[in-house]
Amino acid sequence: MEMRMPIDLRSDTVTRPTEGMRRAMACAEVGDDVFGEDPTVRRLEEVAAGRLGFEAGLFVPTGTMGNQVALQLHAPRGTDVIVEADCHVYRYELGAMAAWSGVLPRVLSGRGGRLELDQVSSAIAPDTDYLAPTSCLVLENTHNHAGGVCIDLEHQRSLIAAAHRQGVKVHLDGARIFNAAAALGVTAADVAAGFDSVMFCLSKGLGAPVGSVLVGPAGWIAQARVVRKRMGGGMRQVGILAAAGLYALEHHVERLSDDHRRAARLAEEIGGIDAFVLDPSTVQTNMVSVGLRRPDEQSVLLKRLDDAGVLAIAMGPDVIRFVTHLDIDDASVETAVAALRKLRV
Ligand SMILES: *Cc1c(COP(=O)(O)O)cnc(C)c1O
Repeated sequence: MEMRMPIDLRSDTVTRPTEGMRRAMACAEVGDDVFGEDPTVRRLEEVAAGRLGFEAGLFVPTGTMGNQVALQLHAPRGTDVIVEADCHVYRYELGAMAAWSGVLPRVLSGRGGRLELDQVSSAIAPDTDYLAPTSCLVLENTHNHAGGVCIDLEHQRSLIAAAHRQGVKVHLDGARIFNAAAALGVTAADVAAGFDSVMFCLSKGLGAPVGSVLVGPAGWIAQARVVRKRMGGGMRQVGILAAAGLYALEHHVERLSDDHRRAARLAEEIGGIDAFVLDPSTVQTNMVSVGLRRPDEQSVLLKRLDDAGVLAIAMGPDVIRFVTHLDIDDASVETAVAALRKLRV
């Protein structure tokens, strides 16, 4: 059975907990977290906040909830929230920012997910009695839809400073902040520096089955805890899941650069295949987003890979995406490379 498991490169969300992680989960000390009595959750929140250089953390069931809790606190109803057009908060959360917070997305088109300083500065509404005030700017690092690319830190700092000068909060959707840190050769705290709040996912490349953490100042996280409960995100003996997160932070961060190396290996191969359009040097982390010379071939190419036991995913009409993660080792990559080579003929 194991032999026939496909090599699943669709997303880094498909990882399954390792033996060690399952043991940590089974042994976790737990309590009622809504009463603040789950020691494992508390430890995860402390460790996560420490890793990102913030005072406090809040364990949330999903990254979407973490982002939306942050927006509810940063962005009063009827205010503008500046977002990049392809970012997760705006595009992939089913209108949550409108539904939960009643805010206006101020949508700016980035190049490869990157917003320029003058774009952001001129989008911040001046103080008048006829424009929706700008309350918040959301950045995403790494940028998922743009293919796992990093925002360089100097640029990020300039965007944060421009927002702060005008009293605008800045939230980081850092679902893959540890991938950004690995690729940039810095710590996650370096990537998180300057933001008012940061969300990161345990359930992506870090390999935990469930969960994200929202970090911020202690008083702000206390408010976030209330908003989480109101959204139905108050969980009880959830140390069993937090234990997976702690295990991931301890054992699965260092290895992210292996995922990046394997993505680069795939990219090198894909770059040489006629059906695809890819400059391998654009691959920075664990994602390989590949353009198609003929978009009408998308489903055929996916089917041929599937037949060879390799799963990739359509991202929009003319892109196929490959993502490396915890369950993809060097041998899996070589099998995928062999399947890709067959696409040459
Ligand atoms: C996955 C992801 C999220 C949130 O994920 P959930 O599926 O809600 O846990 C947020 N932002 C980005 C960039 C993501 O990739």
